[in-house]
Amino acid sequence: MKYQHTSFQKPDAYHALQIPVYQSVAFEFDTAEEMEAAFTGKSADYCYSRITNPTVQFFEERVRNITGATSVTALNSGMAAISNTLIALASAGSNIVTSPHLFGNTYALMASTLASFGVETRFCNLNDPEEVKANTDENTCALFLEVITNPQLEIADLKMLSEIMHRAGVPLVADTTVVPFCAWSAKEFGVDIEIISSTKYISGGATSLGGLILDYGTFDWKASKKLNALAGQHGRDAFTFKLRREIHRNLGAYMTPQVAYQQALGIESLSLRFERASSSCLKLAGQLKTVPGIVSVNYTGLPENPFHTLSEKQFGPLPGAMLTFDLESRSRCFAFLNHLKLIKRATNLFDNKSLIIHPASTIFGTFSEAVRREMDIRDTTIRLSVGLEDVQILLKDIADSLNE
Ligand SMILES: *Cc1c(COP(=O)(O)O)cnc(C)c1O
Repeated sequence: MKYQHTSFQKPDAYHALQIPVYQSVAFEFDTAEEMEAAFTGKSADYCYSRITNPTVQFFEERVRNITGATSVTALNSGMAAISNTLIALASAGSNIVTSPHLFGNTYALMASTLASFGVETRFCNLNDPEEVKANTDENTCALFLEVITNPQLEIADLKMLSEIMHRAGVPLVADTTVVPFCAWSAKEFGVDIEIISSTKYISGGATSLGGLILDYGTFDWKASKKLNALAGQHGRDAFTFKLRREIHRNLGAYMTPQVAYQQALGIESLSLRFERASSSCLKLAGQLKTVPGIVSVNYTGLPENPFHTLSEKQFGPLPGAMLTFDLESRSRCFAFLNHLKLIKRATNLFDNKSLIIHPASTIFGTFSEAVRREMDIRDTTIRLSVGLEDVQILLKDIADSLNE
């Protein structure tokens, strides 16, 4: 990880080793001329913290150094990152191609919020290239996917999809929250815009909400109906220009300095935490298969998993710290959850503590049964996010609760 090489944008007055939290809304100017230059984009001086802030910019720069993105934008939640991206790309009459296997709020953003502004979403099976091609047309503004869906744990072939999309002149936008950039490179697999809920691994133990938009500068925006005019002037930076000069300012969801400080610190231990939690998850997945009462275990790191080969090719041997398992019935799931002593009944992923949830009755609890079926959310599934505790202690908590 190259985070050590990220220096402050400007030297701190006291040579602080850690980035100071510049908790200031506005920034002062010596002259009216400098003020004009900053406001019209001719200088990069800070004006107002809804637009840029030194602490937040430091965090963005740290992510840029590690990933090789040409630009990084930090927002105040993963959903803010997703909505800013889609609003920058879509317009009335355009469509988004995606899978119905999506994070609940992302699904609702597309199926309800964006739909009410005339943006159509085409839900299809991303593992079927013919279906993807059939759903893509001249009004498709993005292919959006999650690299490992939650809680189905389905993986799309990124190289295959990016080739199809690039031939059609459509950017590949991927939510990579479940496998962070310390483990693999989304750019290598053809992702043009990467979106991350930094609330999860990056925040360093569920300290704060945050979201990131990474632009790899790989997409030729001349192919985009909405951005082709900007592409004339800004080339491959047209998306970032639209995002930074218009969308994120108008939506007002920029990351705050205190959060940027916590998440910049989170990055320093990201790869250590990721490796520990995911190798525990792999060990646990293997052991849970033999625990009485567990009907099946789903984790793409297991050799018998149908997505294992693709998982290894894209993410390496450790595809994150989330697994699911199925019990016999919904009532067995509830009784099991109620007997746990150590593992926390809570939503969220990739805290330092292990967290467990019954997705059908919680995250997807207000969705209709038909939608749950379309999204493959079963009543018998438990989702576990593995933390930094000892594996044997976690296993014992699970086995004991199933025995009660
Ligand atoms: C949590 C999550 C989000 C939303 O992130 P927030 O920071 O909660 O807004 C989006 N996508 C995935 C895959 C997530 O796990």
